Amino acid sequence: MQNYNHKKLEEFVSSIFVHSGSNEQESKIVGDHLVDSNLVGHDSHGVIRVSKYIEWLNQGNIKLNQSINILKEEDHFLHIDGNFGYGQSIAKYSFDIAIKKAKEKGHCILAMKNLGHIGRLGAWSELAAVNDCVSIMFVNTSGFGILMAPHGGTDRRLSANPIAIGIPMENKDYLVLDMATSVVAEGKIMVARNKKVKLADGLILDGHGNPTNDPEVFYSEPVGSILPFGGHKGFGLAFMIDILSGTLTGGNSSHPDNPNSHTVINNTFAIIVDTKKTVSDSYFQNDINRLINWVKASPKAKDVEEILLPGEVEKNIKKERISKGIPLDDLTIKGLIETANLVGMKDINEDYIKELLA
Ligand code: NAD
Repeated sequence: MQNYNHKKLEEFVSSIFVHSGSNEQESKIVGDHLVDSNLVGHDSHGVIRVSKYIEWLNQGNIKLNQSINILKEEDHFLHIDGNFGYGQSIAKYSFDIAIKKAKEKGHCILAMKNLGHIGRLGAWSELAAVNDCVSIMFVNTSGFGILMAPHGGTDRRLSANPIAIGIPMENKDYLVLDMATSVVAEGKIMVARNKKVKLADGLILDGHGNPTNDPEVFYSEPVGSILPFGGHKGFGLAFMIDILSGTLTGGNSSHPDNPNSHTVINNTFAIIVDTKKTVSDSYFQNDINRLINWVKASPKAKDVEEILLPGEVEKNIKKERISKGIPLDDLTIKGLIETANLVGMKDINEDYIKELLA
């Protein structure tokens, strides 16, 4: 593990996308998004994904430089077809319009189908929050991402179906709950496999439906499955998210027979609300601060240093990684070098990568 400077990493990763054919804008949106996921500690949704994205691109499963295709636009509603473009760029263009509508009209419902992998949902909650909007978003994948066993089941039937809720705070600060409805995000199993470490109890089943801690067996035939968080409640939430983000947007709920089930396609249903349309700024912030103080004052359980709010872990990690750099394992670095070479950046080697160290 070595620590890399996030600014240098952003530049390098964006240049890989430029060399693979994305325009400057798309390359920067996707590259910055991935590095930001590492910055907040979600390495599973960070630069480890670059090689996969380029693989999907080369297979024709992601289309370059897509602009958004607006299927329907009303005062409070926006329906987008992402045309299988990069999820991060389609989401950025769409959220910008939806946030503008929410600020003008009070709220906007955003339905998006057929986006490439949208990445870390929290990034979009943060974007809405720094624009003084509350947001709630649900995401599914319509086939490829089927990983999670239903409550009481033993094999893969649903995708990790994440949900994110963002709340704006004073001085462009925010609270963000951003979580998969599976007990662990699949990317974290990938990271554990790369690091050759065991997983905690109660996260995955092997291909025969038995509990296991070995990330490797999750990927070997017959493949394993991830459990939903919180038993029947997590499963119920995941199931409903599949319908909201998959069926309601027209992007399809999780099913292996879907036409695009061979690649990660994210569909999204989001509601964005300008807080000023219901209550005054001062009431909103005072009431939240009262709630925070009340909750944080709970006597701490044994071995707990601090009661953390949604999004606080990520903010703390971000502060640390901005100053000390982003730790990346050798396998992730090897993947970045190979991908850079693949897209024609022949001069990228281990010596070049050393220049990116923090
Ligand atoms: P996680 O379990 O690490 O965190 C979930 C939430 O819990 C976060 O809001 C975090 O701030 C909060 N949290 C963490 N530790 C806490 C603590 N000690 N006290 C209080 N709150 C705490 O997240 P996850 O479920 O593993 O998801 C990881 C990422 O994967 C997310 O960014 C998600 O958007 C992403 N994801 C994306 C897709 C996709 O298809 N695009 C699918 C699944 C997951």
